[in-house]
Amino acid sequence: MAVTGRADLHAHTTASDGMYAPAEVVRRAKLAGLSAIAITDHDTVAGVEEAIAEGDRIGMMVIPGVEISTVTDHTDIHVLAYYTDNADPVWQNRLAWIGSARDRRNDEMLHKLQELGIDISIEDVREAAKGKKGSIGRPHIAEALIRMGVVADMKEAFARYLGSGAAAYVQVQSVTTTEALSWIREAGGVSVIAHPGLYGRDELLGRWAAEGAHGIEAFHSDHSAEDAERYQTFAANHELIITGGSDFHGEREGESYHGPLGSSGVELVVAEQLRRMAASMSSSN
Ligand SMILES: [Zn+2]
Ligand SMILES: [Zn+2]
Repeated sequence: MAVTGRADLHAHTTASDGMYAPAEVVRRAKLAGLSAIAITDHDTVAGVEEAIAEGDRIGMMVIPGVEISTVTDHTDIHVLAYYTDNADPVWQNRLAWIGSARDRRNDEMLHKLQELGIDISIEDVREAAKGKKGSIGRPHIAEALIRMGVVADMKEAFARYLGSGAAAYVQVQSVTTTEALSWIREAGGVSVIAHPGLYGRDELLGRWAAEGAHGIEAFHSDHSAEDAERYQTFAANHELIITGGSDFHGEREGESYHGPLGSSGVELVVAEQLRRMAASMSSSN
């Protein structure tokens, strides 16, 4: 394998909230001049197989990945995982549990509303969410409550029922960052703290490094030059792999978000580091 070229280690597809099918993202990555692309959908590896098949067809290296939604002290933290063994049933179950966290929470909130005497069902919420992007959540429950005449507007829905501490509020029960790091390791994968610049919680990085995070995403579309510099230094001091990616989802009103494919990334040699790290873990199992 040639070790020159660029790799974008963070991209989404229609398997989660991206705009393009996995194969299309791979084709676009090639057109963008990249040598490798990682498919990292939110809490699912459903797009990986299609992406790899397209990569084989057009001659593009595709790195299997996933971006896990985790929580530390009420802060949402994303952890990228690469080269996990997606045939491992324990890992499959864990991923499914993480991916259904929001659905479970919706169910519990609807149950609380019903206990409060409001005759609302998941069908009412689905109806309210029709034609809207993204997964079903509190704004759609609020919309259903407005349509039913239970509340006057969104503000009242959150104040009385859905906001933190309100009558039907339920917190999302997701995996902790610490636990996710060990789940990824147990699945033979390489873990990378995604876009740390978006959390404002740099004090936590040392803990995750001690808990076995393998890398840190220093280069990201929403990172400043100072962010990239600071995280590269941190990685060097903690012997972490320095990764980067665009976090491409597609285009919204003509603008790529979080950035165009390849706009943030790393040298291809980093993709090789990830692969070797994963290989060394599976051989030590
Ligand atoms: Zn993210
Ligand atoms: Zn992402």
